[in-house]
Amino acid sequence: MSKEPDVLEELDEHYRRYLGIPRQLIPWYPTVDPDKCVGCKECLAFCHDIVYVYHEETKKVVVANPWHCQVYCQSCTYACPKDAITFPERREVKEAIRALRQKYPPA
Ligand code: SF4
Ligand code: SF4
Repeated sequence: MSKEPDVLEELDEHYRRYLGIPRQLIPWYPTVDPDKCVGCKECLAFCHDIVYVYHEETKKVVVANPWHCQVYCQSCTYACPKDAITFPERREVKEAIRALRQKYPPA
């Protein structure tokens, strides 16, 4: 039998699991297109979960803490004036979570 993947211990407790599922197994987090990003930091100011970090060298924002992103939140896409932030298809993520629920049933 394969070993159960564990939660990422370096994550704050709050971010480790979603509905009892190790958060890093759920493929929900933003992607920033570096060609579109102008480094305005609107996303960074908007998100309270410290998902984004500004890189002084490139003058752009990157996704530094993807597992901090709240599952199904997409609010920062509306804060971005350059349409540089995208998310996976909700339908696919819902299917992934449904499959994971078999392995990690509700407590
Ligand atoms: S979707 Fe929500 S939680 Fe995720 S990075 Fe954007 S504002 Fe933060
Ligand atoms: S809001 Fe958009 S353009 Fe501005 S820093 Fe964030 S990703 Fe880049």
